[in-house]
Amino acid sequence: MSKNTAKSKLVIGNWKMNLSFDEAEELATSIQETLADFNLQTEVAICPPFPYLELVTDLADEGEAYSAGAQNCSQFNNGAYTGEVSAKMLADMGVDFCIVGHSERRKYFKESNEVLAEKIDRLTENQVIPVVCCGETLEERKSGKHFEVVEKQLTETLFHLSKNEFEHTVIAYEPIWAIGTGETATPEQAEEMHKFIRSLVEKKYGTEIAYNTYILYGGSCNPKNAVELFSQPDVDGGLIGGASLKCGDFVDIIEAAETTTSEN
Ligand code: PEP
Repeated sequence: MSKNTAKSKLVIGNWKMNLSFDEAEELATSIQETLADFNLQTEVAICPPFPYLELVTDLADEGEAYSAGAQNCSQFNNGAYTGEVSAKMLADMGVDFCIVGHSERRKYFKESNEVLAEKIDRLTENQVIPVVCCGETLEERKSGKHFEVVEKQLTETLFHLSKNEFEHTVIAYEPIWAIGTGETATPEQAEEMHKFIRSLVEKKYGTEIAYNTYILYGGSCNPKNAVELFSQPDVDGGLIGGASLKCGDFVDIIEAAETTTSEN
């Protein structure tokens, strides 16, 4: 199924391990001040590194321009896990979203689908919305395995959730070959995969939940390509890396989401 009526979009900025505290404060404040001038339908979230989360949750409470998100959490509830941050700690801080299974975490920190499923469980137990990333490598796309790869990732990380739990999740399709490379999926490639993902959700959870599920695109999304990508019927917004580090670019992408909401 494709969605066929207007639904507001969601744009999430992933700052990764970037910015000094002063730069983070300046960026979060500028985004808040700029968005205050708009009457947005689009939902916006910012995912800073952990040490800057309180800054972002404070500004989020103050300005109501965006929500705060984390980039990761532990699969454990609490205990002797040095360096880890639990889903409950995020919830207690007022964090609304948490990215799970970003390809950088899968690659550099060897996070398996099994561990990611546990993280998703901890987040849903604590009412933090998991933003679950999936996506194929260039080799997998070239060999025609991209649908199979994404289906396996979603089945093994997410599809064990009950309907109630699943309703409070977000999916981000991020082809690995497009992340931070300047190479973007074409709008047709993005739409084809998003439509496929929505069909998997429909098969598992039914038509209404499939329609309501946010499926974001991530991978070198920028102010130049955002309108075309977000105009695709099954693209519900974006997970934005590099371009979320510049207030002007991030706000332009949010405006693209806003413009395309009335179009879809
Ligand atoms: C990301 O890392 O989630 C991402 C989409 O990065 P970029 O926009 O820089 O490609």
